[in-house]
Amino acid sequence: MGTIKVRTDSRVQWIDITAEVQQEVEKSRVEEGLAHVFVPHTTAAVTINENADPSVVTDVNSKLSELIPEADKYLHSEGNSDGHVKSSIVGASETVPVSNGRLDLGTWQGIYFCEFDGPRQRSVKIKVIST
Ligand code: ZN
Repeated sequence: MGTIKVRTDSRVQWIDITAEVQQEVEKSRVEEGLAHVFVPHTTAAVTINENADPSVVTDVNSKLSELIPEADKYLHSEGNSDGHVKSSIVGASETVPVSNGRLDLGTWQGIYFCEFDGPRQRSVKIKVIST
């Protein structure tokens, strides 16, 4: 089990953690298997999406914020209900195939840590399983 530390510096921010996850795959020495990426937070998430054009991340976050506004008729008093909703919609984990010791992602795919209530110090847990 490896842990990646992520420092976010704005309220909503996606950080490409593909290289850090690949490092954990290499540390594990697993050649064929699965990399499980888990975010142990309730106002953050992990997802896989395009890493070529940064406009994609901007568009996804614009649409999420349009659908799930920061201020709405929420009961939770902490002021971060939008972050909790986004966390559940986007999800706390991803599983990626590992082939020949490499994350077997599509050409345009990157693994993103998704901050929805930053800035904060965050962590991501990685388990690489041989299959
Ligand atoms: Zn809260």
